[in-house]
Amino acid sequence: MATRDDLFGLTFRDSPIGMVIMDQGGRYVEVNEAFARILGRSASELERRHFAEYTHPDDLPRDAELMTRLAAGELPFYQVHKRLLHHDGDTIWVRVTVSDVVTADDGEHHYVAQVEDVTEIRRARDLLERRSLYDHLTGLGNRTLLMERLDRALISHEPRAATVACIFLDVDHFKAVNDSLGHDAGDTMLVEIARRIQGAVRAADTVARLGGDEFVIVVEDVMGVDAASAVLHGIAAAISQPFHIAGHELAPSVSGGLAIASPGLTAESLVRNADMAMCAAKQGGRARLEVFDESMRETALTKLSIESELRSAIREGELVVHYQPVVDLETQETVAFEALVRWQHPVRGLLLPDEFIPISEDANLVVPLGSAVLHEACEFLAARPDFTGRVFVNVSTRQIGSADLARVVRSALDASGASPHQLGLEITESGILLATASARADLKALTELGVDLILDDFGTGYSALSSVLQNPVSGLKLAREFTLRLGDRGTGDRISTAMAALTRSLTMYGVIEGIETEAQFAIARRHGWQLGQGFLFGHAVPASEITLGLPVDGGEADAPTTAPMPNWLEDASPR
Ligand code: C2E
Ligand code: CA
Ligand code: CA
Repeated sequence: MATRDDLFGLTFRDSPIGMVIMDQGGRYVEVNEAFARILGRSASELERRHFAEYTHPDDLPRDAELMTRLAAGELPFYQVHKRLLHHDGDTIWVRVTVSDVVTADDGEHHYVAQVEDVTEIRRARDLLERRSLYDHLTGLGNRTLLMERLDRALISHEPRAATVACIFLDVDHFKAVNDSLGHDAGDTMLVEIARRIQGAVRAADTVARLGGDEFVIVVEDVMGVDAASAVLHGIAAAISQPFHIAGHELAPSVSGGLAIASPGLTAESLVRNADMAMCAAKQGGRARLEVFDESMRETALTKLSIESELRSAIREGELVVHYQPVVDLETQETVAFEALVRWQHPVRGLLLPDEFIPISEDANLVVPLGSAVLHEACEFLAARPDFTGRVFVNVSTRQIGSADLARVVRSALDASGASPHQLGLEITESGILLATASARADLKALTELGVDLILDDFGTGYSALSSVLQNPVSGLKLAREFTLRLGDRGTGDRISTAMAALTRSLTMYGVIEGIETEAQFAIARRHGWQLGQGFLFGHAVPASEITLGLPVDGGEADAPTTAPMPNWLEDASPR
C-alpha cells in the first residue's frame, strides 16, 4: 500500500506530462521521465543542471523576469509558451505552467513546473497561418496578405513625397497553355513566372498571386509614375524570356496595369484601378502595359452593367435569334440558315453579338447564352418540317468540353424533336484544336449524334490545315476578310481558289461568307465555291420573317427559295 506521499511521488514519476522541480537558483532538483523525454535525455543526466542550458536563449530574459515576479509573490503562477533545446539540436515548443512552492521543513522556495510538448500544435498553426496568407502553389502572398500590406503601406506613406504603386499582371493565353499542355505544365509556368517577378522587384516589395494567372505587386517608396512604369517594364521583360515546359519552348507574355496611390484611396480601390488598367491593356491586344486613368472606370462600369443586364436578359428571354440564308451559288436556293444571336435591349435597342458575346465570355455567361440559342435554333427547325436544309449555330470554345456541349445539344434536340442531321455547329479553329480529353470526347459525341461540325472563319487562326483536318469537320467557312480581297489577282484570289478546291476534294462543304456584290458572287462561283452567304443573298432576319419558298430578305435580290442541301453534302462523311 502506498502512502499519500508515495502517491504524489508516483504521479510525479509516471505522469505523461513533463514535471520539474527547480531550486531558487533555477537548477533542476528533480525531473520526471516525461520531461527528460521532451529533451531527448535521461532524468539522471538532468539532475542539478541549470534550466538555462536547455532553454532557447531568446526566451531566457522573459523566463528570468517571470520567475523573479513569482518568487516575489507578485504572481500566483504563470503559463508561457517557450522553446527548449532538444538533445539533437531541434527546438521544441512547450507550454510551461510554473508555480512557487515553499517546502514546510526548511521554508525554501521551489519552482514546480508542468511542461507540455506543443510543437505539433504549433507547427499546424503556423502552417494554417501560412496557408491563409500565402499561395500554396507559388509561395507568394495571397489576397489577404496583399491587402494587409497595401493597407499598411498606404497609411505609412501618405504624407511623404514617395508614393505607393500597384501593378496588376495577367498572363496572356494562360488558358491555352493549361488546355493544350495540361495543368501540371500550367502550374510549372505559374511558379516560374512567380520566381521571375520576385527576381525583378526589391525584397521589400510585396508580390501576391490572386488565384489563376493574376499577380499583383505592391511597390513602396517609388518616386512616381515613371519610376513605377520602369519597374513594370522590368518585370514584363523578365517574364517574357523563353523557357521550356513539357518539351515546348514558351515565351510567356503578360498584360499589365499600373495604378498609383492618391490621398484617400483605399487598398481595395488601388488594386481595382490597376486591374482596370490591366483590362485595358488586354483589350488593346495583350502583351501591353497601361497606366490607369479615370476613363477606364467608365469603360469598366459600362461593361459591368452590360454584364449584369445580360445575366437577366438570358433569363428573361431578351435574346433573339436571327437567321441568315446560306445559298447554293448555282441555284441561289437557300439550303441552310446561320443562326445569329441578337439582344433586344429594352433601352439600347437591338444589340449585335460583338457588343455582348466577348462580355459573356468573360462573365461565364456564354454557356447559358449558347444553350438558349441552341434551343431556339432547334425550335426553328422543328417548326418547319418542310424545310430539309440545315441550321448552323455558332458555338464558343468555352462551350466545348467542360461545359458538356454534347449534352446541351442533345437536350435541345430532344426538347424540340428536331433532327440532329439538320443541325450544324460553327466552331473556330481554336475550338477545333482544343487538346483536352473532355473537349475531344465532346466533339466526338457530337459527330456520333449526327451533328455537323463546321470550321468557322477559316484562315484567321494560325493552325496548320493538316492538324485542323484531323478532326471530324464536315464543312468549312472562308473568313470574310478573304472575300473582301476577291479579285485582287493576288493572295485573296489564290487562297479562295485553293480553299474551294480543297473542300471539294475532301467532300466537305465550303461556304464563302460576306458576299455583298454581284462581282464577288461571280468570282466566288468562278473559284468553284458551292455555297455562299452574305448581304447580297439576305441579311439575318427574325424567324417570323422567314416564309419558306418565299423571298427571305424583302426580296431586293433574286427571290431565294429554300431547297434541301445538295446531294453531295449528304455524302460528306465526317473524317
Ligand atoms: P460570324 O460567325 O463570322 O458571323 C457572320 C457575321 O457576318 C454576322 O455578324 C453576319 O451578320 C455578318 N455578315 C453576314 N453577311 C455579311 C455581309 O455580306 N457583309 C458583312 N459586312 N457582314 C456580313 P453578326 O451577326 O454581327 O455576328 C458577329 C459574330 O458574333 C459572328 O461572327 C459570331 O462569331 C458571333 N456570334 C453570333 N451569334 C452567336 C452565338 O449564338 N453564339 C456565339 N458564341 N457567337 C455568336
Ligand atoms: Ca459563324
Ligand atoms: Ca464566320
